[in-house]
Amino acid sequence: MGGILVALGGNALQRAGGNGSWAEARVQMRAAVGVLAEIASDDHELVISHGNGPQVGILLRQNELGAREVPSRPMDVLGAETQGQIGYLIQTELTPALRRVGVDRSVLTVISRTEVARNDPAFRNPSKPVGRYYTEEEARVLRKQNGWVMQFDGARGGWRRLVPSPKPVAWLEGPAVRRLLEAGLGSRWIPVVAGGGGIPVVRRPDGSFEGVEAVIDKDLGASLVALELGLDTLAVVTDVPGAAVSFGKHGERWLGEVTLEELERYHARGEFGPGSMSPKVEAGLQFLHGGGHRFVITDIPSLARAIAGEAGTRVRVG
Ligand code: ADP
Ligand code: MG
Repeated sequence: MGGILVALGGNALQRAGGNGSWAEARVQMRAAVGVLAEIASDDHELVISHGNGPQVGILLRQNELGAREVPSRPMDVLGAETQGQIGYLIQTELTPALRRVGVDRSVLTVISRTEVARNDPAFRNPSKPVGRYYTEEEARVLRKQNGWVMQFDGARGGWRRLVPSPKPVAWLEGPAVRRLLEAGLGSRWIPVVAGGGGIPVVRRPDGSFEGVEAVIDKDLGASLVALELGLDTLAVVTDVPGAAVSFGKHGERWLGEVTLEELERYHARGEFGPGSMSPKVEAGLQFLHGGGHRFVITDIPSLARAIAGEAGTRVRVG
């Protein structure tokens, strides 16, 4: 038993308040790959997944600005594009980092589709904001012309498009990747999979699949991947060193080693922010209840120590 799935959050790819440039993404990734190479050098089976929110935002904006000259692509295609660009970035930066620590492994990206249920209630209740902020007038036009669901964000004083965020049901490329790992390739290969939780697809009556306009929570997608591959550890890497109770309030307390029951209690009590920390914890609970052994929430600087049981928020079962 072994193996770690590292799910990289947006901050590993893009600096908060940054300009969203490719040069910046490379700098961010270069800061992240050292610790990934270190984990890989400990003979751990290592699988990498990642978020794609900011990158999808950029492609949506490019679509919008270019729509008069080139036809826009649907969201499932944008998801595939982000898996390509981020996978390419990880391959480019992680490969030399592996060489530096003397690890002979290849980094390979698998464009990944994740099945969601056509009748998932999320399709009737879009909840995930994507893309830029719009004025009230723009929001009115977009609602009418595109049938988009728009929501006012009081804090930022603008309108945003909401898309459905259905539950991931199955990772379609999972069985193939699992067979490769089982064939012993886990020690030779670092798969980059299910970026952005995977491209959301639904099953057609004939058994084939088609993409849908939706986004999958990358942490829930990562949990599905870790279970499918029978990995021991799910490590969610974000921009805070762990999960806290009373987060941002008086009496804030960062969690270290906790039991499954404690984490569930805090979750039920609403300690974790919706759309940010809560889906990470949900992903962890799903993983641990599904047969996973270890769940970690941490940031890049603490990742190695968190895996060693010395930092981050950690739950161990079995
Ligand atoms: P990622 O891109 O890595 O998925 P998110 O922004 O979605 O990052 O989630 C991380 C954020 O969750 C933190 O920056 C923090 O602001 C927020 N957060 C909400 N509740 C908590 C909590 N209880 N403990 C720690 N962070 C929390
Ligand atoms: Mg997130």
